[in-house]
Amino acid sequence: MREIALAEHLIRLGARLQLLEAETHLSRDRLIKLYKEVKGVSPPRGMLPFSPDWFMNARPNIHSSLFHSIYRHVGAHIAANEERSTLRSLMKSYELYLETVTMHGEEPVLSFTRAWTLPRFFDSGVLTLNACACCGGRFIAHADAQQTGFVCGLCKTA
Ligand SMILES: [Zn+2]
Repeated sequence: MREIALAEHLIRLGARLQLLEAETHLSRDRLIKLYKEVKGVSPPRGMLPFSPDWFMNARPNIHSSLFHSIYRHVGAHIAANEERSTLRSLMKSYELYLETVTMHGEEPVLSFTRAWTLPRFFDSGVLTLNACACCGGRFIAHADAQQTGFVCGLCKTA
């Protein structure tokens, strides 16, 4: 029952099938059936969006940097020994991200599946955070392109 509730919650957040398979103990057939029940359509086929380059585009970078700062904050309040602490942090952070974005009258740019790939890129050292020399905001960057004196896109246009 808990697995089904978790899978349903993930589907509502926009999780792709591969994510559901990785994070729950339910069979692929069961997940496809559940997906159809929740969404009314079959899950999309194809590969997950796994490119770190996407996070470098202007709007995606602002949105995912916002998400990441929420995630770091939420992560600090969820005990690491709690069951599925990373996944729970991601789900909570993503809900807060959606709230923040819609509060500002914007459309969400970051999907839950992409948000889920983000900590992996940090853990594997592909992505890092660059602090803006102007506003002090921290923005996602390629780890091999870390700059001193970096100025973020928001400050550049201000
Ligand atoms: Zn800035």
